[in-house]
Amino acid sequence: MGIRVLSDKCVGCKVCVSACPFGAITVVERKAVIGDACTLCGSCVPSCKFQAIELTRSEKVNTDLASYQGVWVFAEQREGRLAEVVLELLGEGRKLADTLGQELVAVLLGHDVAGLAGELIAYGADRVFLAEHPDLRHFLEDSYTQVLTDLIREHKPNIVLIGATAAGRSLAPRVAARVRTGLTADCTGLAIDPATLNLQQTRPAFGGNLMATILCPNHRPQMATVRPKVFKALARDDARQGEVVRVDLAKAVFDLKARILEVIKLQEGPSVNLQEANIIVSGGRGLCDPKNFKLVEDLAAVLGGAVGASRAAVDAGWVSYPHQVGQTGKTVGPKVYFACGIHGAIQHLAGMQSSDIIIAINKNPEAPIFKVATFGLVGDALEILPALTEEFKKAIG
Ligand SMILES: Cc1cc2nc3c(=O)[nH]c(=O)nc-3n(C[C@H](O)[C@H](O)[C@H](O)COP(=O)(O)OP(=O)(O)OC[C@H]3O[C@@H](n4cnc5c(N)ncnc54)[C@H](O)[C@@H]3O)c2cc1C
Repeated sequence: MGIRVLSDKCVGCKVCVSACPFGAITVVERKAVIGDACTLCGSCVPSCKFQAIELTRSEKVNTDLASYQGVWVFAEQREGRLAEVVLELLGEGRKLADTLGQELVAVLLGHDVAGLAGELIAYGADRVFLAEHPDLRHFLEDSYTQVLTDLIREHKPNIVLIGATAAGRSLAPRVAARVRTGLTADCTGLAIDPATLNLQQTRPAFGGNLMATILCPNHRPQMATVRPKVFKALARDDARQGEVVRVDLAKAVFDLKARILEVIKLQEGPSVNLQEANIIVSGGRGLCDPKNFKLVEDLAAVLGGAVGASRAAVDAGWVSYPHQVGQTGKTVGPKVYFACGIHGAIQHLAGMQSSDIIIAINKNPEAPIFKVATFGLVGDALEILPALTEEFKKAIG
């Protein structure tokens, strides 16, 4: 795929400059010049009345698509515990596999993790590829990329789903590049196109202002990372039967550029475990002063919940980045989400609007957070928060 300006046709009118959402076009000596910020989105092409911009897309199909079969889920684990997103991906992967009439495979890498294979089957997998090796004990890009790439080359899956966790976001692009296929990052919706059987991969674009559905029609596997808490896991069924296939790594030698010498755990405590929390109390700039963040922490502590924050609160240094909820923070989906002094910018909503119940506290009755709120409290968070904490303390005992 490529883009170029046909200089004999370009008159330097600058219409393409304003059509480009990425500010990638400048006009130099009355000719448009497309810079490095270009994403090949093609917005400039129809804007040019002189047909002076040419976008070429390769339609070449370079793989035998039909030979790629099966839906794979990367079974991320840490210290012998599966990431929650793996179970969610198995739930969604099961639907995709059933629609396609193909099998659902979990790919489990680690050391001494065989005990997790049964759990993967209980949550929907038909088959588990189990790759165990001391160099796979901890997630390392080099060894994990090598094993997953080799498995994909050998077994040719149709679809590969990976959680959009720190590890998944690092692993997926490396694997996609090596197997020469596309990758859609941070999907929030997956479906099978009934006409073509291609995977429709939907994700927010342009700051969540539109949803883009992305296809990978000419290459396989179709690869996507998926944000945690978007899909629901199936109910565990220990009666399900499946096959565990050991990957032979006896002679494997990994070209490791890094080694893990020691794992040091963050001392942040349970209040930062946003993605697994059932209750989150989040604070924003409306708390007015860093010391008032304690009011959010107090309510979270009484409810046994986690502490979240808007980016404005994080940028102001009131609370650390791991607490940030939103487009550039964490996506959460708790049972109850308190938004205290948070305006409800689209980038914040992108990370929390799938919460079951949203309780918003804001002085401004017009704040957009009230549009997504289940319950709205119009008033001063500095007064309402301590009152709620007191009442919950009494109620919970
Ligand atoms: C590319 C990009 C990515 C971004 N990613 C994120 C992200 O991941 N997460 C995120 O949160 N933001 C993100 N933002 C920033 C986002 O656009 C907003 O600027 C941010 O969410 C605002 O935070 P806020 O609601 O706390 O602050 P404000 O917008 O300042 O809102 C404060 C709110 O508090 C209310 N208020 C004031 N005083 C009180 C009081 N005493 N009691 C009750 N209510 C009160 C006000 O009425 C107001 O509604 C991103 C922006 C960009 C451009």
